[in-house]
Amino acid sequence: MHISEIINHFAEDRENYFNAAVPPIAQSANFCYKTVEQMRYALQNEHQVPFYTRGSNPTTDLLRKKLAALEHTEDALLFASGSAAISAAIIANVAMGDHVVCVQKPYSWTAKLLNNILGRFGVTHTMVDGKDFANIKNAVQTNTKVIFLESPNSWTFEMQDLEAVANFAGEKGIITMIDNSYASPILCNPADFGIDIILHSATKYIGGHSDAVAGVLCCSHDMSMKIFKGEFMTLGATISPFNAWLLLRGLRTLPLRIKQAANSAAALVNYLENHPMVEKVYFPFSSSFDQNHLAEKYMKGNAGQFTIVLKTTDTAMIEKFCNAFDFFLLGCSWGGYESLAFPAITLYDSLNYNSGIFPPNMIRFYAGLEEKELLLQDFEKAFRAIQ
Ligand SMILES: *Cc1c(COP(=O)(O)O)cnc(C)c1O
Repeated sequence: MHISEIINHFAEDRENYFNAAVPPIAQSANFCYKTVEQMRYALQNEHQVPFYTRGSNPTTDLLRKKLAALEHTEDALLFASGSAAISAAIIANVAMGDHVVCVQKPYSWTAKLLNNILGRFGVTHTMVDGKDFANIKNAVQTNTKVIFLESPNSWTFEMQDLEAVANFAGEKGIITMIDNSYASPILCNPADFGIDIILHSATKYIGGHSDAVAGVLCCSHDMSMKIFKGEFMTLGATISPFNAWLLLRGLRTLPLRIKQAANSAAALVNYLENHPMVEKVYFPFSSSFDQNHLAEKYMKGNAGQFTIVLKTTDTAMIEKFCNAFDFFLLGCSWGGYESLAFPAITLYDSLNYNSGIFPPNMIRFYAGLEEKELLLQDFEKAFRAIQ
């Protein structure tokens, strides 16, 4: 099925909701039945039939079907946040005494789950530089149950060889998971390369308007049932029907938004790579990116994120540069309408620069939906401020 068919038509059930072009928001916690037989059927099929909204809901289920189709998986589960989806996926696949292999520098709250929480329940982990597949292979122990990938990752876009990891893990019966938030389902479909669970912060590209926090995991029907009956229902980080509806609306324009952001990001990267005040640019599709071959193999194109390292390490200058932007708002996240700058300098507790994993002169950017000429002018203005 073509992406545009999935997004605009697949699984819509218009005749059952007054022929409305847009699905209604089933803003109901509870679903009630006329007979015991009907109620029993709903309860026993809670995974798919509306019974209670912590389990399933018609608005959320429509979104589930579309996201599973976009990620080439059998099923999907929606969560109140990306972090909730990641936590449920990992916790569902480990027990006391098990071990997780995770890439170095995953999303910060993924790291916290492994570093601060799972250890309390006897689950250990090893974080490795996943750029080299041998490091992942060598970190696997007899008790390893999960390999957690994030490709590309958030700031420096390190990638992993998905096919190599999936083949190796498949032989050993280890579950593979990937945080695919960088790429969205439009640019990369890890299930095609054998990855078991695909996770997204749907807050980013899928929602696309910076107005809803949500997460999704995409996987096989069996895995989905296992997680649904366990962590999904128990931890209960349910997406609201209204947020599911906002995501359905956001999804309609996902390919268009990605195209605009990607086009602007590529133009800005080209400008920045030739700028005398820039030390380095991180961008997976840049010819200078050391894993360019993996970007070409696994992604259909670039997204809107890129990171620069300024030549100056003077903190006053770095702040002046960031404060000079009109269109790049200072904030985290990406994938919304608004362009964003996230200076690494904000990650430090104090001005103790030895404490961070990124240098203070590193800044992550997201090119939003403004025309690229405006964004280029914004960079010119910021550079003028520190000349
Ligand atoms: C934002 C983000 C998350 C967490 O998602 P939330 O929706 O904020 O909980 C996870 N991974 C990556 C790569 C992210 O950017």
